[in-house]
Amino acid sequence: MAGDDDAMRLVLFGPPGCGKGTQAERLSAAIGVPAISTGDMLRASVQARSALGRQVESVMKAGKLVDDATMADVVRERLDNEDVDDGFILDGYPRTLNQARTLDSILDDTESGLHAVVRLEVPEDELVRRALGRGREDDDEEVIRERLRVYRQQTEPVLDFYRERDLVVDVDGDQGIGAVTREILGAVGEEQR
Ligand code: AMP
Repeated sequence: MAGDDDAMRLVLFGPPGCGKGTQAERLSAAIGVPAISTGDMLRASVQARSALGRQVESVMKAGKLVDDATMADVVRERLDNEDVDDGFILDGYPRTLNQARTLDSILDDTESGLHAVVRLEVPEDELVRRALGRGREDDDEEVIRERLRVYRQQTEPVLDFYRERDLVVDVDGDQGIGAVTREILGAVGEEQR
């Protein structure tokens, strides 16, 4: 990908139900760069009954992670698009250490790579409450718990990888939607328009 040095490349990081999707859309509107949700992309593929969709459907239903090689193809292709030249907001990727390394290689140079990894913190009880309230077809409580378990086990360790590079910004996700957006924009040095 081309991309210039002023490009705002953000990763939104946090457990399922922390508000990544909502904040990604709001930040996208405020900053003017696309929000890229791997979950939305996969759900669209499932809906379309494409080869990818048929491949990932059962894994997603179970609350497990789609394999890294498949995700690498999905993300590489998406980040090849011209619309990310001025930046992007990644929602739901990377979710494993392997994926973080893949993202590095896609951005090809970590110096002009990510601007920040925004970590949204929300208490576990609140996460379950929100996830149940969202009412998606795959959101029964057992699957929600499994997704949280997968997050703690496979995704949370990725934070250390980015902390070592001083990229992580911790934000309180347990406040009003507007307040969270403002806190993120302030933390990454963008004024809300
Ligand atoms: P999300 O909407 O981000 O919670 O994603 C919904 C589901 O899509 C996840 O529970 C996974 O099964 C799958 N998924 C989304 N992004 C990824 C990823 N980066 N790696 C593996 N699986 C993913």
